[in-house]
Amino acid sequence: MSWEDKVRKVEPYVPGEQPDAKDMIKLNTNECPYPPAPAVKDCLWSMDYDRMRLYPNPDVLPLRKALAQYHGLDTEQVFVGVGSDDVIDMAFLTFFNSDIPVLFPEISYSFYKVWAELYRIPYATKPLDKDFHIVPADYKNANGGIIFPNPNAPTGVLESVDTVEEIIAANPDSVVMIDEAYVDFAGEGASVLPLIDRYENLLVIRTFSKSRAMAGARIGYCMGSRKLISCLEAVKFSVNSYTMNTPAIEMGVVSVKDDAYFKEIIGRIVNTRERMKKELKALGFSMPDGKGNFVFAKHEKIPAKKIYTALRERNIFVRFFDTPLLNDRLRITVGTDEEADRLMAALKEIVEGA
Ligand SMILES: *Cc1c(COP(=O)(O)O)cnc(C)c1O
Repeated sequence: MSWEDKVRKVEPYVPGEQPDAKDMIKLNTNECPYPPAPAVKDCLWSMDYDRMRLYPNPDVLPLRKALAQYHGLDTEQVFVGVGSDDVIDMAFLTFFNSDIPVLFPEISYSFYKVWAELYRIPYATKPLDKDFHIVPADYKNANGGIIFPNPNAPTGVLESVDTVEEIIAANPDSVVMIDEAYVDFAGEGASVLPLIDRYENLLVIRTFSKSRAMAGARIGYCMGSRKLISCLEAVKFSVNSYTMNTPAIEMGVVSVKDDAYFKEIIGRIVNTRERMKKELKALGFSMPDGKGNFVFAKHEKIPAKKIYTALRERNIFVRFFDTPLLNDRLRITVGTDEEADRLMAALKEIVEGA
């Protein structure tokens, strides 16, 4: 047996590209078009570089405290990681450890499958209905755990708290993880966070990458019962004690403290999203009533790949998933109003020229 036969072979997740083009409009990875809260800039500029000699706080206490206070929880109910990808990775390793398949939707965040394969966790995917909704009955048989984003990615479709609770209530013997990467764009009352007091096995996952405009800082977190969080901590301290770097911890704390700015940029993005939906429909696109910071649009006549390529030639980057279930659509991140203007002008040209 050669060394190559002993290698762990994986088919990695493919993130959206980070092109370096001049004057580009980047609407391909659901980043925020606005800067982080102003206090984040002050924090960055005034940082004491000598502190880099020292390890960061291994328990990430300053940030966990700030988040716990913000959400009205105890610090022991919050776990922080290097983006929610790191949090979900740790959660797969911690909670999905049985021989029964873990369940997630067929159309969903494509990273779930990669972690399951990496850790050799058995899994099964469940189709969405024709309107891209989850079918709760599919999640009521014995399983090794459940995860889905709400709103879902890349559809943007939001399930009601009642629907999600129906699934949680049917699964007292598994950990149910709700990936709320986009919930801040979905309006008041969209989150299942209030349910963590009633369901010890519910983990709610959030990120600073989208609604807090801090994808570059790599901060994600999750919330749940003290028991769940202590299981995660035990695994984290078995992999890497110091996941979060000092600047990220400090910038995270000041971001959480500026709630007015947070609400303001979310409000702007939601307005632009609704406007984009209307204008896209006028150009012959259809889409579900998405609640994230992106639209998931299909043109009635022109193939998605063709539009994707034509936009690229104009330095406008959107996401095209070249898989049989998704290749008739584009996922377009909501940018500023000015970016939306330029996108619409380009699409108009492309549609009229087709
Ligand atoms: C963006 C995204 C994540 C990962 O975000 P991080 O940048 O790692 O915090 C996780 N889940 C979903 C559904 C996402 O869209």
